[in-house]
Amino acid sequence: MKALVLVDLQNDFGPGGALPVPEGDAIVPLINQLQKQFQLVVATQDWHPSTHGSFAANHPGSKRGETIQLNGLPQILWPIHCVQNTPGAEFLHTLDRTGIEMIFQKGTDSGIDSYSGFFDNGHRKSTGLGDYLKSKSVEEVYIVGLATDYCVKFTALDSVQLGFKTFLIQDACRGVDLKPGDTASAVDEMRRAGVRILKSSEVMAGAAMEVLYRGKHIQMVRLGNWEFAHRPEISGIVAIVAATAEDEILLVEQFRPPVGKYVLELPAGLAGDLAGSEKEDLAEAAKRELLEETGYQAGQMTLLTEGPPSAGIASEVVTFFRADHLRSVGCGGGDHSENIIVHKVPLANAVAWLETQRQSGKLVDPKVFAGLFFLTK
Ligand SMILES: [Zn+2]
Repeated sequence: MKALVLVDLQNDFGPGGALPVPEGDAIVPLINQLQKQFQLVVATQDWHPSTHGSFAANHPGSKRGETIQLNGLPQILWPIHCVQNTPGAEFLHTLDRTGIEMIFQKGTDSGIDSYSGFFDNGHRKSTGLGDYLKSKSVEEVYIVGLATDYCVKFTALDSVQLGFKTFLIQDACRGVDLKPGDTASAVDEMRRAGVRILKSSEVMAGAAMEVLYRGKHIQMVRLGNWEFAHRPEISGIVAIVAATAEDEILLVEQFRPPVGKYVLELPAGLAGDLAGSEKEDLAEAAKRELLEETGYQAGQMTLLTEGPPSAGIASEVVTFFRADHLRSVGCGGGDHSENIIVHKVPLANAVAWLETQRQSGKLVDPKVFAGLFFLTK
């Protein structure tokens, strides 16, 4: 079961409100569309008593935007906003409320703020949202609303912590950007914590996707006139560009039944494909795959780029990492099901070596040349 969580779509965060988020209301038509794709929609509502400790006005001598200590927690001081039973606390009037099953109010205790829709900022009290979603057998939580760098972020992070597969629909959120760049770093932080970042178009497409065949690992799906392969269970695919201290690129060779030949490839693998590690961070997955396949431990993984290797036939997008500070700690070879041969090829004549291999009847994955580009540019 999938649930859509609408975070704080309230008048005070909209235009003319006490704490307006830039373009806070611009996302509402999109959110109304998205609601139709979900069987379960719930909303959070910032719901403060007028005595709330997050209001600058309740701390004489302090200013908005200042950070103070509130009962042992750092607290940014905000203007008075979302006071219980005032128009500012009501939902934006353009929001379609007919599909909202439950509303979870937060920030009701004067002594502690609550950015997350699940818990207050000290994780002292739950709003009941987590238990509610579990009682509805929800496994996937999709988050939209305001504001990306505060309540949306903390709601998403708690959702991951509670074990939900968590998605941020990025274009259906807006941030405050108290400091320029806050929103972008909030998205990065969520991604690192295991939140998958989606566009609303992907969610709409996902909902419109018809499964033609469901295999153990791969689905064959149809979207409009397009038929393609889709892996629903993984969080990403990583390819690792790695050179040893002796300037050799690490390549792996393996028999690949779909093409009926031995193929030379970059070390690569799926993130989140092991049971219990669905939230595996991509850089961690890259380290793990490199070690399993080549026996080299990387001191550092740097993200290079990402893109679809076969956009016409599969939904997969590969993230390339560069591995540095390599240390040989084993012989590699992959797990028991994979018969992987490791090659260390001097960068200086790698192109010629690959051509010799190709002429001998093997196939060379073109991503290897992308790897050479990154190592030699
Ligand atoms: Zn608040």
